Amino acid sequence: MIITISKPLDTVKETLKSYKNIFILGCGDCCATCRTGGTEEVKAMIDKLKDDFNITGSIVVEAPCDGRVAKRDLRRVKDQIEKADAILAMTCGLGVQSVALLTKETVIPANNTWGMGIIEGLGTARQVCISCDECVLVENDGKCPVIIKQVCNDCGRILAWDAKCCDQCASKNLGKKQDVPATHKIL
Ligand code: SF4
Repeated sequence: MIITISKPLDTVKETLKSYKNIFILGCGDCCATCRTGGTEEVKAMIDKLKDDFNITGSIVVEAPCDGRVAKRDLRRVKDQIEKADAILAMTCGLGVQSVALLTKETVIPANNTWGMGIIEGLGTARQVCISCDECVLVENDGKCPVIIKQVCNDCGRILAWDAKCCDQCASKNLGKKQDVPATHKIL
């Protein structure tokens, strides 16, 4: 699942300040689970913004990152989007870009995208993959080595998992950084 975290409301308002008419778009999949863009969060965002902006409409797209689904759902709200100066996307970065490609409108992210993670329960997620495009889980007993960074024992610089020496002080005295894989509280 893609794990997202809501940007602070003040940050969202600041990003929107050049626009008056806003359409709000949520995600019924990962962001609904993370509570950063499901039906309730979209309703809450409308309440928070309605005194400062004209909300032209809203929708929760089942999966904004699936261009086919987004295209289908966006047809229903075409008129509301046309009245907007910008779309506020309560999605991950994939959803923001998918909607921008489909609508050619200005799309503003309401969330930060933390990464891919496993939902562990009680509102926590564990990052276990960063999509390195060359999966070596089989060679590493099912544990992802890429996610575990290295640290330079001499200068403290954080380095990639496969770095051979520190690119800051040239030391070869490297160790594994132990506080990853990261667990993040999402709710
Ligand atoms: S090696 Fe790790 S980061 Fe790379 S694809 Fe596999 S799980 Fe993801």
